[in-house]
Amino acid sequence: MDHVTHLKCLVCGREHAPNAIEYICPDHGDEGIVDVRYDYDLIKSRISRESLAMDRNQSIWRYKDLLPVLSDADVPPLAIGWTPLYGAPRLARKLGLQNLWVKDDGRLPTASFKDRASAIALVKAQEKNAEIITTASTGNAAAALSGICASVGQENVIFVPESAPPAKIAQLLVYNSTVMLIKGSYDDAFELCLEAAAEYGWYNRNTGYNPYMTEGKKTAAYEICEQLSWQAPDMIFVSVGDGCIIGGLHKGLKDLLALGWIDRMPRLMGVQAEGSSFLYEAWKNGEDVLSKTPVSGITVADSISAGLPRDRIKALAAVTETAGAYVQISDNEILAAIPELARGCAVFAEPAGAAAYGGLVKAVASGLVNPDERIVVLNTGNGLKDIKSTMTSVKMAGSVAAHIEPSLAAVKEIVGNLP
Ligand SMILES: *Cc1c(COP(=O)(O)O)cnc(C)c1O
Ligand SMILES: [Zn+2]
Repeated sequence: MDHVTHLKCLVCGREHAPNAIEYICPDHGDEGIVDVRYDYDLIKSRISRESLAMDRNQSIWRYKDLLPVLSDADVPPLAIGWTPLYGAPRLARKLGLQNLWVKDDGRLPTASFKDRASAIALVKAQEKNAEIITTASTGNAAAALSGICASVGQENVIFVPESAPPAKIAQLLVYNSTVMLIKGSYDDAFELCLEAAAEYGWYNRNTGYNPYMTEGKKTAAYEICEQLSWQAPDMIFVSVGDGCIIGGLHKGLKDLLALGWIDRMPRLMGVQAEGSSFLYEAWKNGEDVLSKTPVSGITVADSISAGLPRDRIKALAAVTETAGAYVQISDNEILAAIPELARGCAVFAEPAGAAAYGGLVKAVASGLVNPDERIVVLNTGNGLKDIKSTMTSVKMAGSVAAHIEPSLAAVKEIVGNLP
């Protein structure tokens, strides 16, 4: 791993040798989030846009030279990464835009974006010969870790709020994780998981704590730019809970700029739910994210429910350093976005995934987007993860199924009434 130069603390600026610390800068309790730094000249001698064009590996591992793993590390066999970037001309027309794409990470093996990070967690844990990996999660990070561990037979212990959608809990059980359903919030699960990991010496995957999760998540930015033939988009819309995904996208784009593979930084547009809008508030009011008090975190979009976003330093920088913005939308706007996105480009998203599209709708209405800008919306989770919210959303959209007798007459009655 000679391409990783150091881990830089984003609180005090101290630089740590890669093997000197495992997760955080030890000087600030659990808040010493660090950033993995690289030797880009060395990386450039190993990988190029041209070598990528010849590479038939369609997974995040095509970017292995840019990831914090050993060059000969074994990687899990699941097909993680290189999700489709669909053109969405009908949605674009509806919004008065010229160029809109939707990247569908609901297609990853455990049906959410989190597979990108959990894959790195597994490799790092195996580097350390860890017997057990643990994480707290609102559901998807856990499902991702659980599935990736199942792909290699790695033991793991999961902490999720007992209110997590049943589909996500079913994933954990079917992959045979040890599952702790916490009678409390995600924030409670997070604290407990840190405590248990310290007690038992488990490898800790937690978001905003383990610095390598950002590094897995940055691969989505690489893919977006490579899929657009290295013509970076103007804006990327993504929903934000803990802020690790938006921080990861920012990191990936910074890497590409440093390598000279793209020539400008897209604006990152973070979308938060009204009941869970810590970062929106901090950005809008210029508040210090280290001293700001937590918000309630209550939203229908369980995956972006975070009272105290764990990766808030990176998440705020992602927006301020790219001249982007935070957008806040209501739960009703999130639910309305689910069928709109599905009907407009056939990407079926869970509430947190659809929120990114809902944020674009709101940003267009508020004049934050120019019609000729090239826009990417990132769907982070599959709609099948949360059928209850889907059913609420289609009901709100006025869609109902007809319950009929098994007769052609009954069909005719329905067809006769079609608009
Ligand atoms: C985790 C998650 C997010 C938010 O990512 P953060 O890194 O917590 O900001 C958004 N959508 C889905 C579906 C997720 O699982
Ligand atoms: Zn520090």
